Amino acid sequence: MKILFVTSEAAPFAKTGGLADVAGSLPLTLRRLGHDIRVILPSYQSIEEKGYSVRKGRKSVEVTIDGAAQKGLLRQSSIDGLPFFFIENRNYFNREGLYGTEEGDYPDNAQRFGFFCRAVLALLRRMDFRPDVLHLNDWQTGLIPVLLKTEFRDDPFYSSMGTLMTIHNLGYQGIFPPSALSSLGLSPTLMSVEGLEYFGDISFLKGGVLYSDLLSTVSETYCREIQTPEMGFGFDGLLSRRSRNLFGILNGLDDKLWDPGLDSALVSPYGASDLRGKNTNKKMLQKELGLQTSSGIPIVSMVTRLDTQKGLGLLEEAWEELMHRDLQMVILGTGQRKHMEFFAGMQDRFPGKVSINLAFDESLARRIYAGSDLFLMPSLYEPCGLGQLIALRYGALPLVRRTGGLADTVTDPEENSQNANGFSFKKASGAALIQALDRALVQFKDRRAWLKMVRRGMNQDFSWTRSAQRYLEIYRKTMEVRNV
Ligand code: ADP
Repeated sequence: MKILFVTSEAAPFAKTGGLADVAGSLPLTLRRLGHDIRVILPSYQSIEEKGYSVRKGRKSVEVTIDGAAQKGLLRQSSIDGLPFFFIENRNYFNREGLYGTEEGDYPDNAQRFGFFCRAVLALLRRMDFRPDVLHLNDWQTGLIPVLLKTEFRDDPFYSSMGTLMTIHNLGYQGIFPPSALSSLGLSPTLMSVEGLEYFGDISFLKGGVLYSDLLSTVSETYCREIQTPEMGFGFDGLLSRRSRNLFGILNGLDDKLWDPGLDSALVSPYGASDLRGKNTNKKMLQKELGLQTSSGIPIVSMVTRLDTQKGLGLLEEAWEELMHRDLQMVILGTGQRKHMEFFAGMQDRFPGKVSINLAFDESLARRIYAGSDLFLMPSLYEPCGLGQLIALRYGALPLVRRTGGLADTVTDPEENSQNANGFSFKKASGAALIQALDRALVQFKDRRAWLKMVRRGMNQDFSWTRSAQRYLEIYRKTMEVRNV
């Protein structure tokens, strides 16, 4: 099958979150299964700065935005044989961030990603590649299916291409003032309830949701949740209307990138059959972070964007109570100021017990996963979540709120003691978090039972193999839908 994977970020080139991990690993898995899949994303300034060798191409297109011609130049690279294409435009992508700065989103994101959508379609004609399926991701790609079903509807070059739109986080909807329509050369008729109109503005994601042949999201529970008013962010009606064409497919974890036996960030690699190395990592982590060295005290950690979505409010509510427990708390994260401020002073208030690291640090993240006993993810919502999958692989038991992908991957002993691999709670409150934590601390004292859960988690298969097959089934379905 021929697939074009269209995304606004892909690891290792450009990453702000889980979408980049998916874009860096799902296409590679599909390629290994023998499919002709290529990835296309904007050519951000940071890609060159990171030193990736990206070949300049000669192919280019012109797209009219705000009445002026904008050039899109195609560049190329590859990883393990998987082709990555980049669309260069100095006005739009030669900036510090992907979507904005600390001050907020770039004010011309409609133009930037509107340009990207138009340029992807225009460049396809010049790439000698006519995909069967366009796999689109999140609002940044939402105009592509709109263009295909309107402007390009009668163009035979595009007419057989199926579209699948994957929603990685419904919290981001690409909402812009209605003036963006004319700025991007889109028909004013799209300013309607059946078009892009969304409470007086327009939404790129709405375009993707209404105009794609099929839709998916990144776990089965999140797929159900986003069709309810409580968790649908205003999109529940639209999504339920399309529920027959909406699928939940769990993200996989790249099991080569995340393997405690091969991780060069660790002094002492280990595996499920020999957990002594894990204890060494715990001691080293305690030393590195200035915590009291003791294997008997459980380390509870978080590696996360410091965003309200991640349930930091619950942790803050539970904090004082939590500090009365016999545990050590490690936090690694950056993000919203209010959360950074809450945690900033805690290390000094609780020396030897608390370690706060307000940074993005992949290597420290790995040592934290390896050295921890419990990994906390009390998210308010979580489309899939990667943190808990990494934690399981590294033998840290996840303690999570039972929502989205967390509900689909973490099993509490109270739900099913035979298959338990972590702890979970449902109510979004500090008290519920503490209750689950207390159960985990009791279990921690029973070493045999604890290690059994650790090994079970480490041996679980969360690789891409299964999910890649499901994506292939859905790609085939988009082609059927197209060809009826
Ligand atoms: P999201 O995509 O919502 O941020 P996920 O759990 O799906 O959440 O993915 C988060 C990924 O980013 C994980 O690989 C996690 O280890 C990594 N990460 C988050 N914050 C940091 C940080 N401060 N330093 C290093 N890695 C981080």
